[in-house]
Amino acid sequence: MQNFEPQLIDLHFQGTPGVVAVYVWDTGDGLALVDTGPGSTLEALKAGLDLLGAGWGDVRHILLTHIHFDHAGAAGQILDYSPRARVYVHERGARHLVSPERLYASAAQIYGDQMEALWGEMRPMDADRVTALAGGETLRLGGAEVRALYTPGHAVHHLAYVVGDELYTGDVGASAWCHSSRPARPHHRRTLIWPPGSRVPPNWAPWTCGGCTWPISVPMPRGQTTGPTAGKPGTRSQVDAGTAATGG
Ligand SMILES: [Zn+2]
Repeated sequence: MQNFEPQLIDLHFQGTPGVVAVYVWDTGDGLALVDTGPGSTLEALKAGLDLLGAGWGDVRHILLTHIHFDHAGAAGQILDYSPRARVYVHERGARHLVSPERLYASAAQIYGDQMEALWGEMRPMDADRVTALAGGETLRLGGAEVRALYTPGHAVHHLAYVVGDELYTGDVGASAWCHSSRPARPHHRRTLIWPPGSRVPPNWAPWTCGGCTWPISVPMPRGQTTGPTAGKPGTRSQVDAGTAATGG
């Protein structure tokens, strides 16, 4: 993989495009992933990496916005397959990745016997491969400078990441469920309150829906501050991993 532009990999969660996806880019020192999707879409993620000419061994940095299954469920498995990789996560979520039993049990109360089908396996990870962040740190990952922003709201341990002119928001703007039993494309636009100092350009608004986990990367022109307004979301290169995974 020789493309430093962020790539969007659609994981075709439950066979539906446009619901769960991750971002990947080349830091010059291995690949960085923003979120991993759940264990149930691991093969789709692998297929997406294949299309980019990459594999598990190329993954070096896993930036988790938060630890919910749809965002972080596959991270433990990826660490097992990617010996050089490490995970970055907010300090309030880190221990649940090392010991996911409580996280799994609380989710099982909601999803019951659908847990495996929806989310797949969530493996514990070694504490020494997890970097706990408070927000406010600047990470140097290869040639990339990554700033972690503490963005509680959707989850008390939520982080967003700034990389160059991009802001990876995770579910920071999530506010409503789709009230649908099946995955759906995000369709809600929300007015967001951004942390002091974060920069969101006018005419670009991250959108999300609590029932969906479509990751948003927001281009951030330099020199502009705050001001989330309605507008079309950023368009980025996209890899249709689901098509590759299913051959259809
Ligand atoms: Zn979430």
